[in-house]
Amino acid sequence: MELKPGLSAFVTGGASGIGRALCLALGAKGVFVTVVDFSEERGKEVASLVQIECAKFHSNLKFPAAVFRKCDVTNSGDLTAAFDEHVATYGGLDICINSAGIGTPVLFTKDQSTWRRTLDVDLIAVIDSTRLAIKTMQAMQKPGVIINMGSASGLYPMVKDPIYSGSKGGVVLFTRSLVPFKRQGIRINVLCPEFVETDMGQQIDSKFIDLMGGFVPMEMVVKGAFELITDESKAGSCLWITLRRGMEYWPTPTEEEKYMIRPSSSRKRSTAKAPFQTPLNLQLPQSYEKLVVHTLTHNFRNATCIVRAPLSLPIKPHHVLVKIIYAGVNASDVNFSSGRYFSGPDRPQLPLDAGFEAVGIIAALGDFVTNLEIGSPAAIMTFGSYAEFMMVPSKHILPVERPDSEVVAMLTSGLTASIALEKAGGKMESGKVVLVTAAAGGTGQFAVQLAKLAGNKVVATCGGADKAKLLKELGVDRVIDYKSEDIETVLKKEFPKGIDIIYESVGGQMLNLCLNALAVYGRLIVIGMISQYQGEHGWKPSNYPGICEKLLAKSQTVAGFFLVQYSHFWQEHLDKLFHLFSAGKLKVSLDPKQFLGVHSVPDAVEYLHSGKSVGKVVVCMDPSYRQKTSRL
Ligand code: NAP
Repeated sequence: MELKPGLSAFVTGGASGIGRALCLALGAKGVFVTVVDFSEERGKEVASLVQIECAKFHSNLKFPAAVFRKCDVTNSGDLTAAFDEHVATYGGLDICINSAGIGTPVLFTKDQSTWRRTLDVDLIAVIDSTRLAIKTMQAMQKPGVIINMGSASGLYPMVKDPIYSGSKGGVVLFTRSLVPFKRQGIRINVLCPEFVETDMGQQIDSKFIDLMGGFVPMEMVVKGAFELITDESKAGSCLWITLRRGMEYWPTPTEEEKYMIRPSSSRKRSTAKAPFQTPLNLQLPQSYEKLVVHTLTHNFRNATCIVRAPLSLPIKPHHVLVKIIYAGVNASDVNFSSGRYFSGPDRPQLPLDAGFEAVGIIAALGDFVTNLEIGSPAAIMTFGSYAEFMMVPSKHILPVERPDSEVVAMLTSGLTASIALEKAGGKMESGKVVLVTAAAGGTGQFAVQLAKLAGNKVVATCGGADKAKLLKELGVDRVIDYKSEDIETVLKKEFPKGIDIIYESVGGQMLNLCLNALAVYGRLIVIGMISQYQGEHGWKPSNYPGICEKLLAKSQTVAGFFLVQYSHFWQEHLDKLFHLFSAGKLKVSLDPKQFLGVHSVPDAVEYLHSGKSVGKVVVCMDPSYRQKTSRL
């Protein structure tokens, strides 16, 4: 959500501390605010300060830019009336921040009368206010963000105030469990700062604060809250803020790994695996985000921007709406963004929807679509998959068993290897020497395994020890890590008769080297030329002097392969790959770096081109649909 003038926010505990700072920061963006608090004098002061800030953005308003609403958040009736008043004043609710909180004055073992009040304010009222905010946002049918104020003491114990710590721990897990509301466009996140210099923070022993490295500055807390509001990928997210470590999402991927079960790239899977469960409550928002190319350049980040598009219903006849879960990242994304795929008079008008491939769930059907069902998993290989939703002709749907990240890797990457080795300039043979370049990448990993499964000796090049390790695990006979060995020297020495089949995707010098390494009757398949895609001035064609003489002298074949021209083989080869994978004969390696949401796509594309990725790079468009089950 872009923080812009005209949005409205409801902030509990807005009269002081973090709540106050957030009211003022929102006002400074032109956001209308209802300041909810028990303390009338201070609350009214905050509302008048917000008014002054907001006035810079709005003139001749017919309603106040900020209002104070006296309210005890533990009184559900009061709170309901405050939400109603907010909607009556501002016509909707975009942001709700539940910041009201108190400490426990006396240790719970010593006084029975006070600790329940802490739970009431710090946990029960947060749950109630979240409930009312969700209800309001659902009624408005507009996207909304709710931020609950947790605390670092909701992540680790605070021995001085166990009730406060327990309530904040409750707020953290309550909020983290609300991920599924993202499907309705409502993102609920929790902010967990360590001690901030507020009235409450000042009651803490200063020696303890010194030990923690000092108070967390209020600006960091505001920055964290704004990140949770603006970053569309954050839902059920918990942002931990300390002065020592900065801003960090909790749990870290390492922690999460300990209790989440996800499909593992190395785990053997059988078709006996539980069938994909259609998610309940597949609700459609009114709009969705997608990435478009607005300027033709190979610099993907500069070429693209995110736009919010209306989800126009009903779906067109013969079309389906797909809710995207995983989108695959490809080396050629930069060729698409530079317009290389669209030359000549047929070039479509900008902007162009970016992204080549995705898996997801069918979310709605147009008239006359009889062969597909809502809720069933589907793969798509048409442009526009870097999006939360995609409308496609039903004939372009590739039915799949599960909308998993491994399946998205089987699309462009897997199909290119499978079809090219079978169809480009010859057939896949046995007993040959096969060389694969960039072998630990998205498509290379499939090529090495398929060549091995066909009974060949496989040689693979890669840059780095991690990649070499993966390739050995995939069964490669000779891995050449060009960072520690010279490819040409190894090939001349160990394969003096030359290489029979080469699956080449690097281009430039590597292609030259491969042409020289080709055996008599050898076949070289040109898959791509990644080393040439991102030069300072884009892709420059290379010259290979003497290529005709070389090919003629050894009866060799150089075959080009472009997957889009082989779409008639996609379903057959996808089924074959899925079958091999399910039977445990084919592994799918996914790069462990997590990319979440449409916003992360440029990072993911740059990461692929950094040369650091190992396996397939994927972007998870909606983490709430990730096929994972908590062991707890
Ligand atoms: P990928 O292999 O995952 O790409 C990343 C790997 O490429 C890197 O880890 C690195 O591997 C190598 N690389 C990256 N930048 C490089 C550079 N500047 N110079 C040399 N090597 C570089 O990506 P992918 O999406 O699977 O694509 C691989 C190739 O297949 C690309 O050329 C792509 O265009 C092509 N492709 C073609 C088709 C088709 O239809 N023809 C379909 C899919 C993919 P190492 O350093 O380990 O070598």
